[in-house]
Amino acid sequence: MTEAILEENEVSESDDTSAEQQHKWVYVFEEGNGENKSLFGGKGAGLSEMTRAGLPVPPGLIVTTEACNAYYDNNKQFPEGMWEQVVEALAEIEKKVGKKFGDSSNPLLVSVRSGAAFSMPGMMDTVLNLGLNEETVQGLAEQTGDLRFALDAYRRFASLFGEIVLDVAHEKFERVMDRFKAQTKGGKDTDLKPEELRGIIAAEKEIILAEQHAIPDDPYEQLRAAIAAVFTSWMGRRACGYRRINRIPDNLGTAVNVQAMVFGNMGANSGTGVAFTRNPSTGRKELYGEYLLNAQGEDVVAGTRTPNPIKELKKELPKVYEQFASIAQLLEKHYHDMQDCEFTIERGKLWMLQTRTGKRTGAAAVRIAVDMAQEKLIDRKTAVQRVTPEHLDQLLHPTVDPDAKAEVLATGLPASPGAAQGEVVFSPDEAEEMAKEGHKVVLVRLETSPDDFHGMVAAQAIVTARGGMTSHAAVVARGMGKTCVSGASAIDVDYSQQQFTVDGRVIPKGEWITVDGSTGRVFLGKVPTIQPQLGSDFHELMKWADKFRRLGVRANADTPLDAKTARGFGAEGIGLCRTEHMFFGDQRLAAMREMILADGVGAREKALEKLLPLQRGDFIGIFREMAGLPVTIRLLDPPLHEFLPNVDELLVELAELKMALRKRKTLADMDLLLDQIDEKRRLLDHVNKIREANPMLGFRGCRLGLLYPEVTRMQCRAIFEAAIIVKNERKQVSLEIMVPLVSVSEELKQQVDLINDVAREVMGEHGMKFDYMVGTMIELPRAALTAHKIAQHAQFFSFGTNDLTQTTFGLSRDDSGRFLPSYVDRKILSDDPFQVLDSEGVGELVRIGAERGRSVKPDLKVGICGEHGGDPRSISFCNEIGLNYVSCSPYRVPVARLAAAQATLETEAAEAKSKQTAKQAAQTL
Ligand code: PEP
Ligand code: MG
Repeated sequence: MTEAILEENEVSESDDTSAEQQHKWVYVFEEGNGENKSLFGGKGAGLSEMTRAGLPVPPGLIVTTEACNAYYDNNKQFPEGMWEQVVEALAEIEKKVGKKFGDSSNPLLVSVRSGAAFSMPGMMDTVLNLGLNEETVQGLAEQTGDLRFALDAYRRFASLFGEIVLDVAHEKFERVMDRFKAQTKGGKDTDLKPEELRGIIAAEKEIILAEQHAIPDDPYEQLRAAIAAVFTSWMGRRACGYRRINRIPDNLGTAVNVQAMVFGNMGANSGTGVAFTRNPSTGRKELYGEYLLNAQGEDVVAGTRTPNPIKELKKELPKVYEQFASIAQLLEKHYHDMQDCEFTIERGKLWMLQTRTGKRTGAAAVRIAVDMAQEKLIDRKTAVQRVTPEHLDQLLHPTVDPDAKAEVLATGLPASPGAAQGEVVFSPDEAEEMAKEGHKVVLVRLETSPDDFHGMVAAQAIVTARGGMTSHAAVVARGMGKTCVSGASAIDVDYSQQQFTVDGRVIPKGEWITVDGSTGRVFLGKVPTIQPQLGSDFHELMKWADKFRRLGVRANADTPLDAKTARGFGAEGIGLCRTEHMFFGDQRLAAMREMILADGVGAREKALEKLLPLQRGDFIGIFREMAGLPVTIRLLDPPLHEFLPNVDELLVELAELKMALRKRKTLADMDLLLDQIDEKRRLLDHVNKIREANPMLGFRGCRLGLLYPEVTRMQCRAIFEAAIIVKNERKQVSLEIMVPLVSVSEELKQQVDLINDVAREVMGEHGMKFDYMVGTMIELPRAALTAHKIAQHAQFFSFGTNDLTQTTFGLSRDDSGRFLPSYVDRKILSDDPFQVLDSEGVGELVRIGAERGRSVKPDLKVGICGEHGGDPRSISFCNEIGLNYVSCSPYRVPVARLAAAQATLETEAAEAKSKQTAKQAAQTL
């Protein structure tokens, strides 16, 4: 294969240009190319590219995605001319292989596979051996000199056609197989004799007949029906569900690949396999995969027989192995990425059946990107773009603590890394329901199929008793970054009893287990887990990302420990320290409540005195951890309901005290109880007095500091005193004080005056002077719209997009979770706006706020610290509108660094492209 051939891959579209000529719906592989996946689908594109490069690919044709879309536009009829083009292309295939479709002495058999632009579970997969009937099966037997083989091919075809095209339940065919296998000596597929295979075929046909269907005898009718079935599966429930979750548009359509059959089940020098050009779990540069001799592809994927590691092929068929290894290398060099290849060996000859970009774990993605850049297969920019935010997320997954005492129940294959735990469930529906109710579940199945996808999404982890590293469960879980152990064969799953058994030990539904997808172990109970160590590849990639990004990345951190974690992940400062979060602990909460409930300034100041040293202590810890980096401390913003006792609970406590009073034994008891009742009543009265109907829009944010200036005073004193203490340790403190929930510029002005007063006071007391900044959150629409006025008093802005989303949509942050998912399901909203910034509405206010703020202060530093600061798509938006930084939770920091770099690189690429287009346009003029 030469690069020159591979690069010359424009579609020859000259046939389409004449208006009289019919639209081209069908292409033979030689006519397709690897670039146009949207027309040929991923599989068709890969097969075309390999064919054009001269690799051994069985001849075939592609019915395009356009044809699929036209089928739907055309009331589920093939578009005009499509079928004739299929027949014509099939004739070309016949010529190439020297066999004839439907011929009773020398029949051509084909496989029919779906192939969308993105690989998609839930779509019709494969019908093999299409073209067989009672006559052609005889021809196949003569052609191959192997009656048993021909009948085996026929029984496979009948069950696949029945299941996939005619929608007959798979289990029904499986039961027939099991029954016949049980009658043989060895009990395996390969033990079935011709007469038993004939029995199976007859039984399969009966099953189909019982469901009012029949397999057409005419191979062309079979093909017609199979192509229509592929088109229909595009709009099937599972495929639509998958597309919705993965945000794949419905109007892409699927292509259909019809390809001459080659057989991996023609004896000991035949076989089939799947292999990756690098290890998809670790990223190591090695061929990684599995194969089975004397088997067809479905045997590997279905997990019904346990395949051998690809390395063993080197011993069994060394020439084929060498050829495959060199093709794998060639493909990697050509695609500049790790490939996932399917192959079949027919009587010692290697055939390539598929190549596509291989799915990989987060760890593998990082290692492959870094290695390939170092091998000069890709540049560093490409390496940074190759790793997705989801990959990094996966990399940050916990692992099982190796020192923990834990009972291993079973060991299977380490199909997808990470450690997760939950209650055992056996059905995907139940997994989904229980997860909705807040349970953590582990889905345990014999093996999985696309039907189980929703349960896999809902589960923390997946365990299967059967299947290899490329089984459905393994591939899908890896793609989702979900922990999975497959092929844990010691587990005996009993769906009817809702339990599994290992070595006689029964684990019922609801029992907790822990799954370690990195080692393949399944443990009983909740085993402690630890955070992963990030390797040198990760740090290297992050270094490259940091070079390319324009946006700064800070962390939202409220404690010294958070600050330390954030710094470890590469945060360049703290963008939001929520001071109210420092008071969630029991003792601290009591002091905070005392402050909130205090009657008058005196009482409040007394409570604040208790809070001051606690705050100062926390600030000291944070300044130490972040020495040299900016720390934005936000003044108190407690929606009061988060800190007040619950009224219902108070009522219950009061009732209990009254009951106790009735049962009192001594007079002293009575006095004590009366005092307690009195106190509880006062508390209840007080809480009722300050309780708000809508605390999120109530006495919070700067409103608190304005009406209770002693609160702001205490906080600022704690902040400045802490800064002085840490500065005296010769550490650099870069302090930013932030005022929350401002809507009117005067609010900010008054708070800034107060902050400056305290600063002067404290610095005077300590004879020290230093710079600090005062800025504000922009989290209300009015603030965004009047940002030019607010900016006059602010040295920086930080967009609080949680509140800004709440107030722009008029949608409660606390309650919308109940119905927002339905909004997304019904496509009223494309995403939950509390997760992904609504760029059209809320984002527009951010853009306006930043622009208006900078119109009076061009150098105004502007960041974002709502949850969106850790969301890749929102980060891309922040980059686009020119914010200075994003701030997110510590564990999202690496993701944000990567997403920020990718956003810059995407913008650069788009700019370069538009420059190029403009240049070309200028040249043509
Ligand atoms: C915000 O509103 O986006 C924000 C960061 O503040 P909080 O979530 O604390 O209200
Ligand atoms: Mg807020």
